[in-house]
Amino acid sequence: MAKRLIGGRSSAAELKPTLEVIPRKAHRISRNDISDNALKVLYRLNKAGYEAYLVGGGVRDLLLHHQPKDFDVATNATPEQIRKLFRNCRLVGRRFRLAHILFGRDIIEVATLRGHHVETSDKHSRQDDSGRLLRDNVYGSIDEDAERRDFTVNGLYYDISDYSVRDYFGGMADLKARRLRLIGDPETRYREDPVRMLRAVRFATKLEFSIDKATGQPIHKLGELLSDIPPARLFEESLKLFLAGKALDNFRLMREYGLFAPMYPMQAKLLERDDSGKALALIEAMMKNTDQRVAADKPVTPAFIYAAMLWYVVEELAAKKRDKGMAEYDALTAAAGDAISKQSKTVSLPRRFTTPAMEIWQLQGRLEKRSGSRAFRLYEHPRFRAAYDFLLLRAEAEGGELVELARWWTQFQDTDDQGRRQMVRALGSDGNRRRRRPRRRKPQAKAAQ
Ligand code: ATP
Ligand code: MG
Repeated sequence: MAKRLIGGRSSAAELKPTLEVIPRKAHRISRNDISDNALKVLYRLNKAGYEAYLVGGGVRDLLLHHQPKDFDVATNATPEQIRKLFRNCRLVGRRFRLAHILFGRDIIEVATLRGHHVETSDKHSRQDDSGRLLRDNVYGSIDEDAERRDFTVNGLYYDISDYSVRDYFGGMADLKARRLRLIGDPETRYREDPVRMLRAVRFATKLEFSIDKATGQPIHKLGELLSDIPPARLFEESLKLFLAGKALDNFRLMREYGLFAPMYPMQAKLLERDDSGKALALIEAMMKNTDQRVAADKPVTPAFIYAAMLWYVVEELAAKKRDKGMAEYDALTAAAGDAISKQSKTVSLPRRFTTPAMEIWQLQGRLEKRSGSRAFRLYEHPRFRAAYDFLLLRAEAEGGELVELARWWTQFQDTDDQGRRQMVRALGSDGNRRRRRPRRRKPQAKAAQ
């Protein structure tokens, strides 16, 4: 298949862009809403004789009256030409070659307009056998660039030369209808880049848009394509899915579309066989909690999210190891190592997040042992607060004895030193005992039910 045509779509008619130019007075984007740095970049490109557009999420969000997260610029200048115009410019990326214009901590991303791919042997563009694009550096015109964008609402261009908005695929109408529609043939576009399926979910929840039928339907059968995406890219996507205030909605929609299992196979299997519902309850409690923190502008960390996502997987693995005679702590540590390395095959987990997750897990056992000076020592532990927060989620998910334990620790923090000593004394010998672990049910027992 060396010479297969890329982008050689069967129904060219469907793809033909029909340009609509919305003049300044007919849309609501004002230069006051665009950051000074983005404006500087747009104007400098334009003065040098290049086309310069604001594109993507920035345009979409301004039209929706949302505050844009960032501003992306598209131009017909090549990366080298962009570099010559800006002293503060850095060229980045392999898959997409981009220019970053740096203004202190603010970065304006400038992309050269992309064109069509010609053939697989082309060194500027590459596609694998499933149709996935591996490299994408063929430059082109604005209408070609528009065809390569994912959703119609992401394919709107704000032209700095006359302040008009250029709409090639009915993005304006879709914005109005609050509808997410993929440009081109959905299945082809998902095969080119399966991450677009996750983007469909993410934008649907973020913008509160519906997913157009033809755009949504193929996802159900194509989810497995996510297994081919490099784990590092899926980790990045997982942060956007779970750390941006819509974690719970995204999690539910991912499950509905069959996108959760390819990314999190261990958890998906566990959710299937977990009759108690506690694994689902813990993940959902964590996501709800994360969304509330984002809404309240409190810090959130992937360490906590992955601690909850993997907890029952780790517990189950640890129980098996304990059954084989391994000591409590060693079993947990070994199980955590196994689970993390298996997870990293689909969604990578950087060590700076797995180390704190591991600590949160290890401290769960210590939260139960409170006699003598133990509770006081644990309270001083730098990770105590995270471990306690995690205990609250477990209590919410499991109920029972954990609720008592969580209440005890809440009270411990609320009272003074004398009160704390009294609380520990009142535990008697009980505070040193571990909570009895429920024995794992044997398969026969389950079948007999
Ligand atoms: P966000 O608010 O999350 O930043 P965004 O739409 O700006 O939303 P980005 O990931 O910043 O999303 O991408 C910028 C633009 O680049 C998109 O609006 C879209 O036009 C295009 N784009 C990004 N990723 C893809 C992709 N995988 N396939 C096609 N086009 C893409
Ligand atoms: Mg963006």
